[in-house]
This record gives sequence, C-alpha cells and structure tokens, in this order.
Amino acid sequence: MKDISSDKFIEALKNHDMDKLRDIPKSDLHNHFTLGGSRDYIKLQTGIDIPFCKEVLSTMQEMHNWNDKYIGEKFNNKEMRKLLVDATFVQAKHDGIKVLEIGEDVWGLGEFYHDKIEYLINAFQDANQRIAPEIELRLQIGLSRHCPIDYLTKCLEHFWGNEIFYSIDLYGDELSQPIENFIPIYKKAKSQGLRLKAHVGEWGTAYDVKKAVELLELDEVQHGIAAVTSEEVVEFLINNHIRLNITPTSNIKLGRVERLATHPIKELYRSGVDVTINSDDILIFDSDISKEYMRLYNADTLTAEEIDDIRINGLRRL
Ligand SMILES: [Zn+2]
Repeated sequence: MKDISSDKFIEALKNHDMDKLRDIPKSDLHNHFTLGGSRDYIKLQTGIDIPFCKEVLSTMQEMHNWNDKYIGEKFNNKEMRKLLVDATFVQAKHDGIKVLEIGEDVWGLGEFYHDKIEYLINAFQDANQRIAPEIELRLQIGLSRHCPIDYLTKCLEHFWGNEIFYSIDLYGDELSQPIENFIPIYKKAKSQGLRLKAHVGEWGTAYDVKKAVELLELDEVQHGIAAVTSEEVVEFLINNHIRLNITPTSNIKLGRVERLATHPIKELYRSGVDVTINSDDILIFDSDISKEYMRLYNADTLTAEEIDDIRINGLRRL
C-alpha cells in the first residue's frame, strides 16, 4: 500500500533525514499521554528537566520508580495534568502525527477534573483545537489493571454514554489480576460502541494474548509481541483481523526484546498480522514515532517500503 507521501517518506528514511520524516503524516495509537509530552515544552513551561532513561530496565517496578522520581508528585495536580495534555499535543504536532489515540485514566476524573466528565473531555478537546487542530484525536478511556473491579465499575459510570470516547484500554501490571475479571466491563464497553483494546503479551505469553482477545472480544492489542512465539496465535490474529499496536524502543528498554534487528514486529508483519508502530512512553524511552521508524530502518528490522506500509496502515480508518 502506498500514498501520496510514500516516495518522500522512503527517501527521508534512506537519507536519514529526521526533519523530512517528521513532516510526513503518521499515527500514534499507543501513547500514555502523561509520558507522551515534549521534553522541551515541559522544560520551557515549568523549568523541570526530564531526562530519558538510558539503561535497560528489567521490571515494571523500575519503570514506576523512574516515574516517581521524574514525574510523580510534581505533576500530580489539575494544572500540571493539563500541562501534560498540552505537552503531548505539542510533541505530536512536532512529529507530524495526524491520528493520536490518548486518554485519561478513570481514576483521574475525581483527582483532576472535579468528577466532571465534561471537564475531562474539554481538557483534551481544547488542547487539540488550540495546539494542533490538524490532529484527529481518538479519545480513550484508560483502566489500570491492578485496580479493584468494583472501583473501576463505579468510576466508569461517568464515562458511559459519552459518544466522544473512541476506545477503552487496560494497562499497568499485566500479571496483577486475571483477565476474566474484566469481562463485564468490556461487554459494557462493546455495547457502547467503543473499540476494545488491552495491554497483553508484553510480559505475558502468546496464549495470554489469544485468551484476552477471546474473552474481552478485543479489536486491538497493545504490544501483543509474545504472539510471535506461537504459529497458532499468529494465525488466530490474522484470521480475526486483530491489530497489534507495537512499541519497539519500549520493548528494548524494558528488556522484553533483546535486539531491535530481530524485534518480533519483523516476523509478525511479514506473516500478515495487522501491526502499527507507536511510542508508548516518550519521556521515559525517548521514543517518538519518527525515531521509531528510523531506528527500525537503521537496524534493518524492516525495509523502508515495509515501514511506509505500516505507517499508512496506522492512518487507516477502521
Ligand atoms: Zn503501553
């Protein structure tokens, strides 16, 4: 698949021209907005320096420790939360993002928006219009996997019925509670017409990916890279048109994948799985979309033409 930007995109990759690469339309469908912002913008607005993590982390706890040290309390109030939303649009604009899927954790509604869903929606829509109206915002509802189901269900009452929400995602510690616990929430989300996503197969197995897709009726999986270890699961993903929103640098920095050259995206894409390339946590991993494309090209994980095909796939309306 090619589009009007394909020739320029392929040329920019081959010439290692980051400025030209940034100009070309792309999507970011796996971006945790509190960590998705522009480092320069945050520094300019607050004086706070947030260095990216240089070493490879080996547990989610180490990532949480990084988060506590550099983000944590400093950004834990209404004003700073809005600043992080703004910073994410500034970053996305700078990187030529045209489709951005981000959203707020359900617990954030009480914490940062006075329990008023319209304040929450407005924070994202206002930043979108003010900073980057050219970006299509796909607003997501976020669930932390360690939270008790009763608590999440109660928080979600405020979110249901608002047509602006595009998708729902489950993230945090993949091993904290069984995926079965989330079936009622995902049934409700499906009845609301939301696109169903969850983080699976980053720390878990190929079997966990298949099980989550079947039980929650997922449309998309965040990560899902463990699927590569099972031919049966790869077939299953292809036959059911399940999209994997993959984040290569994050996988390396969290020790999920040893080398970029052999990242599972290579085999998954070439097998025919619907994959996209995304940032995950830009502030921690130094992973904006143009950098991800360039790194995959430089490591010879995929060809420029293949990366272009994945770029166009990410822009597709589903
Ligand atoms: Zn993620």
